[in-house]
Amino acid sequence: DRTVVLITGCSSGIGLHLATRLASDPSRSFKVYATFRDLSTQGPLWEAAESRGCPPGSLETLQLDVQDADSVAAARARVTEGCVDVLGEPPQNACQSLPCPVSKPRCPEAQGASGVPQGQRAVREARGDRPLLAVCNAGRGLLGPLEVHSADAVGSVLDVNLVGTVRVLQAFLPDMKRRHSGRILVTGSMGGLMGEWKGPGGVRGTRGAVHGCAPSASQRPHLPSKGIPFNDVYCASKFAIEGLCESLAIQLLPFGVHVSLIECGPVRTAFQEKFQMGRGVVLDNVDAQTRNLFSQYLRHSKQVFREQGQDPEEVAEVFLTAMRDPRPALRYFSSEGILPLVRLRLSDPSGCSYVAAMHRIGFSDKPAHGPDGAGTEAGAGTGGP
Ligand code: NAD
Repeated sequence: DRTVVLITGCSSGIGLHLATRLASDPSRSFKVYATFRDLSTQGPLWEAAESRGCPPGSLETLQLDVQDADSVAAARARVTEGCVDVLGEPPQNACQSLPCPVSKPRCPEAQGASGVPQGQRAVREARGDRPLLAVCNAGRGLLGPLEVHSADAVGSVLDVNLVGTVRVLQAFLPDMKRRHSGRILVTGSMGGLMGEWKGPGGVRGTRGAVHGCAPSASQRPHLPSKGIPFNDVYCASKFAIEGLCESLAIQLLPFGVHVSLIECGPVRTAFQEKFQMGRGVVLDNVDAQTRNLFSQYLRHSKQVFREQGQDPEEVAEVFLTAMRDPRPALRYFSSEGILPLVRLRLSDPSGCSYVAAMHRIGFSDKPAHGPDGAGTEAGAGTGGP
């Protein structure tokens, strides 16, 4: 039985790499629906699929614009065709799906590795029911001094990144809840904070070591999103995603449906190039000091992406690990390099230390060292997004 995976935003970057990575997985255990706002942009996905040798039937493309509820509903109907709602009413024991931390004691013989009681699984298999996974990955940025952005540009970023995610979740969650099965993965942002991390035991994290594994509970930061200068609205949308997912994760526990955020630092995709300042925006009316800070930030950001940006392929592996985790966590991190400044936020809840450190790092052309060892030789990046 293949896991059906729907991914939004597959024309480039993380979505494209994840879709082809899953479809070409040697286990052949995924059926991927790669979705596009505009289907005319699917060429690069098929080229990647061919070069990776995705087997026939492992990958399909669908139109899905997260800003358009009808398009989300149409995609949902195609993906869930024959695989939802076959069980009718949910089972009496709402905690039968594993891994559910609040589940009641279960009879081991009654359940297989999937955690679904064998009787239910047989019914599902007989009726073509398949596990379903939705990846909310579509996103866009908005860069520049806040005062230059039009209301339309602001609204559109919030509509894609936040409301678009809500639309997709509203479409897929009811079926998942009814089935007592399903996973939701959301591409989160750590705000591009890259640096060295001294773990709780004094262990120095090295970049790459954390790929594909969630830090232990004691190591997990609780506020992964960061404020980044000149990315105000984008950051606001990603902060909102944190609240959305954290809240949902709590209420979905009894349904055995799991929400996970894949928190990314800077990833080398088209995202940076596509960053928009909004149509017709000019900096002429912005004060000289802000213009100066903005150009300093742009230099810094480019450097961070060049020196510390991750390959989307590495990030796809983190998604895969999260998908295969028998006890899914709320958060996974594409790199451990972000953690020093996260710790700073936790150690000084007033926010003063964080604001001062970020200012020093983001607007210095020199390598920066934050308080509490929160620095990096390469310059801890505020490079966004
Ligand atoms: P990308 O620009 O290559 O991909 C973004 C995708 O979203 C594109 O396929 C685009 O067409 C799609 N999209 C935009 N608006 C859409 C809409 N209305 N409906 C459907 N799809 C839409 O960039 P990426 O880096 O691969 O970004 C993917 C996700 O990763 C985004 O959510 C982004 O916020 C997040 N992220 C990226 C980085 C980074 O540094 N690249 C860092 C942290 C988080």
